[in-house]
Amino acid sequence: MKFGGTSMAGIERIREVASRVAGEVARGNEVAVVVSAMAGETDRLVGFAHAASPLADRAEYDVVVASGEQITAGLLAIALQAAGVPARSWLGWQLAVATTGAHSTARIEAVDTSAVLASMAAGSVAVVPGFQGVGPDGRVTTLGRGGSDTSAVALAAALHADRCDIYTDVDGVYTTDPRIVPRARKLKRITYEEMLELASVGAKVLQTRSVELAMKEKVRVQVLSSFIPAGNDPEPGTMVVDEDEHVEQELIAGVAYNRNEAKITVAGVPDKPGVVAAIFGALADAQVNVDMIVQNIAYVAGTTDVTFTVPRTELALSEDVLAKAKGNIGYASVTSDAAVAKISVVGVGMRSHAGVAVTMFRALGDRGINIQAITTSEIKVSVLIAEEYTELAVRVLHTAYGLDAT
Ligand code: ADP
Ligand code: ASP
Ligand code: MG
Repeated sequence: MKFGGTSMAGIERIREVASRVAGEVARGNEVAVVVSAMAGETDRLVGFAHAASPLADRAEYDVVVASGEQITAGLLAIALQAAGVPARSWLGWQLAVATTGAHSTARIEAVDTSAVLASMAAGSVAVVPGFQGVGPDGRVTTLGRGGSDTSAVALAAALHADRCDIYTDVDGVYTTDPRIVPRARKLKRITYEEMLELASVGAKVLQTRSVELAMKEKVRVQVLSSFIPAGNDPEPGTMVVDEDEHVEQELIAGVAYNRNEAKITVAGVPDKPGVVAAIFGALADAQVNVDMIVQNIAYVAGTTDVTFTVPRTELALSEDVLAKAKGNIGYASVTSDAAVAKISVVGVGMRSHAGVAVTMFRALGDRGINIQAITTSEIKVSVLIAEEYTELAVRVLHTAYGLDAT
């Protein structure tokens, strides 16, 4: 069982989580629990680290931001004990949750379950803070924002758990963010692939890496609400399943948006082999992840324009990198726009149906929403638009694909 920030936000909520865990134990299940920091706490800690120094050492940043989960893990163990359920907390370094040394974006490499298994065998619930691990040098690491989902899936995989229940503030995965589209529909099931694409294009209900790991390790993941009392339905939320378990196939599983990218246009670059490599090589050397890419033949003969997106937090760095590489690339100008949003539609039904992209372009065009860039994969179409139209675009597409709840 994994509980997110809103589920752990304060002693009252933690007591409710404890009674839910106690209910699972009373039903005869052996339980390990992964917890997030209280809602808003990680933001607060990130703020402290940045205030201390905008260029805070990543390893020390991890020491600071990992602390939110230490508090909730201890508090839940106390609440469980107070409810008569034996419980013990285990920090990332104690288990250990071994990760790479990439501070603030570490990847889990192995989870030593011996302490948790011994604890469970002795009838005690193991409480593990999400988001944190320990690097090869023995120092605390964190897994990137939203990483507690990945901690939970990794622990479930290592324990060969029957299921990994991710408790959050919505009762499942919806056809789009229910906070933006009240008529979004809850999905009983979604395939790993669709969930992976949706997460990677912005549906933050599950961290992308958690879905990747669940798919690879075949962990049964359920997303459900910690705010709705447990009933008799063993699967009240959304199950993430293999494609062959997913019988009623819709054309589109969902719509997602992402406002964390910025657009850069490098104009008037020589239209010759190697020039695109020069642009993206410079960015790759600076560890900037480029997402959408469009290249045009410009009106001026022999030159071309290249437009692409980078994480918004890396816009300034990217501009700096391009300025330094000007001599090598040989462009006329660089312009940028941070007020953009990427809107994506995802569905395995796209593989076998034509016209999915056209429906998207037409629906946006009818509303006067201009498309600035397009990318596709086998089961996804993404477009870049002006940020101010984000909500309108999501709603329009949700309707256009017939996803609105009736
Ligand atoms: P937690 O703190 O429990 O990890 P998150 O805030 O990370 O919770 O994720 C839950 C949120 O994800 C929901 O409150 C919802 O606004 C958002 N969300 C975005 N897209 C979707 C979607 N397709 N289905 C459900 N929730 C979504
Ligand atoms: N507390 C961490 C965050 O806010 C991890 C998580 O909640 O999943 O990013
Ligand atoms: Mg989350």
